[in-house]
Amino acid sequence: MNEPWSFQGRAAAPVARLIEELHRLPGVGPKGAQRLAYHLLRATKEEAQALAEAILDVKERITLCSVCQNVTDVDPCVICADPGRDRSLVCVVEEPLDILAVERTRGFHGLYHVLHGSISPMEGVGPEQLKVRELLERLRDGVVKEVIMATNPNLEGEATAMYIGRYLQPLGLRVTRLARGLPVGGDIEYADDQTLARALENRQEL
Ligand SMILES: [Zn+2]
Repeated sequence: MNEPWSFQGRAAAPVARLIEELHRLPGVGPKGAQRLAYHLLRATKEEAQALAEAILDVKERITLCSVCQNVTDVDPCVICADPGRDRSLVCVVEEPLDILAVERTRGFHGLYHVLHGSISPMEGVGPEQLKVRELLERLRDGVVKEVIMATNPNLEGEATAMYIGRYLQPLGLRVTRLARGLPVGGDIEYADDQTLARALENRQEL
């Protein structure tokens, strides 16, 4: 009964509700949720309002880029609209955050495609739930010459890369996979810049 979580019931109802909502966020444990809630309790009304508005703004103004499916407030997104990017190269990632990881390496100047997940029979996620159809459609015009499968180096990520690769190879595209060296079972999002840059540079035919 000494779990910090158990004290939640003794907090005033609105505070308990806030703690509960914060606890739903990824990476926020019971203790963290309490700390955040009491921090917000001490914040000025303006500060609290700014945070609440930022959250609502994201929901209202952010959509998916019609080209790469990345989250964006302009369509096409800034990367797709950038004339300096190499349009013959598309890096396929699982999540929008993976784009930030690849961008941090400064070693990639092509475009992206976000799948919004990976194939996972265990969780009932098949290719039809991912942005695979959108990928195949955008490759039709022949501008793209190489697709780099930068899905996570875990079971689901490998299965996703293999599945999509099978569809792409008959199109006469070069299909590559990030080189080994990324921690197996890991997440692209958390890979350090150098390791990810090297994996990109040494990518191999799928
Ligand atoms: Zn885009």
